[in-house]
Amino acid sequence: MTTIHHQDLIASIAEALQFISYYHPKDYIDALAAAYAAEESPAAKDAMAQILMNSRLCAQGHRPICQDTGIVTVFMKIGMEVRWDSGGLSIEDMVNEGVRRAYLDPDNRLRASILADPAGARSNTRDNTPAVIHMTLVPGHEVEVSVAAKGGGSENKSKFVMLNPSDSIVDWVLKTVPTMGAGWCPPGMLGIGIGGTAEKAMLMAKEALMEPIDIQHLRARGPSNRLEALRLELYDKVNALGIGAQGLGGLTTVLDVKIKDYPTHAASLPVAMIPNCAATRHLEFTLDGSGPAVITPPRLDDWPAVSWQPAADAIHVDLGRITHEEIAAWRPGDRLLLSGKLLTGRDAAHKRIAEILGRGEPLPAGVDFRGRFIYYVGPVDPVRDEVVGPAGPTTATRMDKFTDLMLGETGLMGMVGKAERGPAAIESIRRHGAVYLIAVGGAAYLVAKAIRASRLVAFEELGMEAIRELEVEDMPVTVAVDVRGDSVHRSGPREWRMRIGKIPVVEE
Ligand code: SF4
Repeated sequence: MTTIHHQDLIASIAEALQFISYYHPKDYIDALAAAYAAEESPAAKDAMAQILMNSRLCAQGHRPICQDTGIVTVFMKIGMEVRWDSGGLSIEDMVNEGVRRAYLDPDNRLRASILADPAGARSNTRDNTPAVIHMTLVPGHEVEVSVAAKGGGSENKSKFVMLNPSDSIVDWVLKTVPTMGAGWCPPGMLGIGIGGTAEKAMLMAKEALMEPIDIQHLRARGPSNRLEALRLELYDKVNALGIGAQGLGGLTTVLDVKIKDYPTHAASLPVAMIPNCAATRHLEFTLDGSGPAVITPPRLDDWPAVSWQPAADAIHVDLGRITHEEIAAWRPGDRLLLSGKLLTGRDAAHKRIAEILGRGEPLPAGVDFRGRFIYYVGPVDPVRDEVVGPAGPTTATRMDKFTDLMLGETGLMGMVGKAERGPAAIESIRRHGAVYLIAVGGAAYLVAKAIRASRLVAFEELGMEAIRELEVEDMPVTVAVDVRGDSVHRSGPREWRMRIGKIPVVEE
């Protein structure tokens, strides 16, 4: 009988979460480096370079890969010969104490993103608890733990379908992945669960994402069963969609497709699909009663020698003097370097603004969007001499429903975020002669290096969702929607799907 001490599980969870906040798994780095080397789309290659350089900077600086440090998901396989020195805590209590310690660590404070009362007050729990915990009992004397910190942008793109038994899983995946847009920050992985029941399929899809990226190894040795053949088919066909890094169009959208299956009812074919993003973060460890897990850091030379530099033709933009004539000259795909002041705001701030304007009241002092740009961001709190922690973009699509209001009533000139905009938001951008720019999701520490000052402006009680004024210098962004309503997320994937030439482009 093995005894697991509660302090060992707590310490191991805390260390694992700190570790994965700044170290990508080596298999992800290796796969992304290979995809970067093979990429032919300049825009996608540039985004991958930013993600790789960001990853190395985070490994060096021990700061989060992404400003969204995730919702903690834990899978535990608990040996049936294990007894617990529990200290009066449940296993959930132990895991959550580990989460609390990791996220409040003063040397690398992580962003608290978890909201209680999700259908109501949505109040931040302040320490990123509780985790989502799945436990199973298995034969044995050990406890196997998989810890992940899953970004909201990729979790939001999770899909589930009850297919007819005669339907094609491949067809469903190929139809569904384009609907996921770029908010899941590709290139990443797809976890697919097939069979069981609805909840079983979703769990298998999530658990599949804990497996290492090894599709090239599988290709080299050849598939030995039906699921492995399906993995290869989906990997090739999803990449042939041409979506590319950040949805800009390119050769690599997924670095691997992982599949788990389970017997199902004769009438059913449940299929779940969950993407993992550029901030793929997970770690596996085993407790055997001898103490906390020993987690070995990677070597910095595990990272490729990729040094991102702004494009030589990047346009320098002074946000203090920006004019409608200047932005009218920008076209989708143009690379910009922004300098000057940006206001920030994301979901909760937009909701507040809409409520205030709806009541006919003025916006709080300092919240003046006239002739200015808004950056959709919820940064990590700063540590040491930082002015702000990692501060990459959040998914702009969620702000679509506020776009017409913001452009029509506040004088806002442009927006900076990530991922595509919907048709109504694009039409509003066109009608108001505005623009939408994107920064690279998953390059948050690199983006934050361009931020020289940060000042709280309004809604302090919203925490990371408060409105701030950021002063930036040469912040790298790309024009995603121009004043004519042309979108790089439409033209890029279309162009690269045609170039790859394996899946016909259907005109809408
Ligand atoms: S890489 Fe993108 S989807 Fe992943 S956590 Fe960061 S912002 Fe969210």
